[in-house]
Amino acid sequence: MSGGKFNAEAIIVGAGPVGSTLASLLGAGGVECVLAGSTGGPRPGGPVRALAMTLASRNVLQAAGAWERLPREEIGYFQKMRVWDANGTGAIEFDSAELCLPTLGYIVEQTLLDDALAGAIQTHQCLSAVVADRAESLDIGRDRAVLRLEDGRELSAPLVVGADGFASGVRPLAGIDYPTHEYRQQALVCTVDTERPHEFTAWQRFLPDGPLAFLPLSVPRRCAVVWSTASDRATELLRMNPAAFDAQLAHAFDHTLGAVTTISARGAFPLRRAHAERYCRPRFVLAGDAAHCVHPLAGQGANLGLLDAACLAQVLLAARARGQDIGALEVLRRYERWRRGENGAMLVALDALQKLFGSGSGALQWARNAGLDLVDASDMLKNLIMRLATGTLGDLPLLARSPLPARP
Ligand SMILES: Cc1cc2nc3c(=O)[nH]c(=O)nc-3n(C[C@H](O)[C@H](O)[C@H](O)COP(=O)(O)OP(=O)(O)OC[C@H]3O[C@@H](n4cnc5c(N)ncnc54)[C@H](O)[C@@H]3O)c2cc1C
Repeated sequence: MSGGKFNAEAIIVGAGPVGSTLASLLGAGGVECVLAGSTGGPRPGGPVRALAMTLASRNVLQAAGAWERLPREEIGYFQKMRVWDANGTGAIEFDSAELCLPTLGYIVEQTLLDDALAGAIQTHQCLSAVVADRAESLDIGRDRAVLRLEDGRELSAPLVVGADGFASGVRPLAGIDYPTHEYRQQALVCTVDTERPHEFTAWQRFLPDGPLAFLPLSVPRRCAVVWSTASDRATELLRMNPAAFDAQLAHAFDHTLGAVTTISARGAFPLRRAHAERYCRPRFVLAGDAAHCVHPLAGQGANLGLLDAACLAQVLLAARARGQDIGALEVLRRYERWRRGENGAMLVALDALQKLFGSGSGALQWARNAGLDLVDASDMLKNLIMRLATGTLGDLPLLARSPLPARP
């Protein structure tokens, strides 16, 4: 590499959880990569976002060398999930003991994950991280793709990966459409201390305008809150003084964990559903939120993206070992066929759940109460949903399949 020109085997645009994980997996496999984005480092005091992570994601992060870098004492985990409807009597409970697992999943603050991934990336000699501006153009040639950044630097490789999130800048440069449905909802996030301990349970109460989740952090009386609600209501809640907000939040949660005290900044994120019309072109491929975006009601977005990263790494490393061109369309199509179907099924399922629980219609209210009770009574269905929630169902990449892990 010299001056403003960077040559590599793969350029990964976007150093979020998905791009960083992919870079680390490819770096561990000896692929010369450039990761274009900004990794880890100090951030201004914005809202703290926590991610529910599946057991499969833990395996992928372990393979990427990031899981071991997370401070163990700060990883939350949950052994139970309780989901119930504010407008009725339906409820469902999941328990890790039913699957003979020590935990159903983990809760990790995103800043900790970013730092752990940034640390993992530094261990690979063949991997360079460059701080990148917006990409200005993408030229796809016969043997290489060239990405030009706004500051004039040029990145060139046989493969460019777009892992730069929902508002990806490289996806349109590659001419890939991203049909998007806006839910006209926002997810308000914050961290709270609760009067009663969370009992290592992930709690979700479905309110008429969206789900409210309390996710257990490592401290027994501390939770990450994700409150999906109509956009104007979210704006109103963001503007409230702390005491009024805490009172509204405890009320909306039916005082399940007693009084709550917000201990972080509050932030809100618009909610959408989107799926790229295709995942690849010759010498270009999408992963993570750049390829698909789901409602956060089941905490699946980053988990799907980490599976993308693990599948893509598996496909690329296998092709490279056979001496194939990793940017060839036939190689990239293997990944697309694998992941587009799996992600599409999850998109449809989460959208149906959002519609079922987001409706005030009497018939749907009856259906969801009956449905929750039915699921609670059926071992087979519950087992299936728990396997989905833990990320242990479906056609998993090898890196996500390693032996079932214990608590953090
Ligand atoms: C409220 C809320 C709660 C959520 N909770 C969960 C949860 O519990 N569990 C879960 O699995 N998922 C959850 N998600 C979804 C999850 O946050 C996303 O799916 C995940 O962050 C996607 O990762 P990514 O790396 O694909 O994209 P991003 O996290 O968006 O990262 C993309 C990166 O690319 C960078 N970038 C953008 N443009 C450029 C460019 N031109 N050049 C270089 N870099 C660029 C960005 O700065 C960013 O660092 C939640 C989402 C929301 C909104």
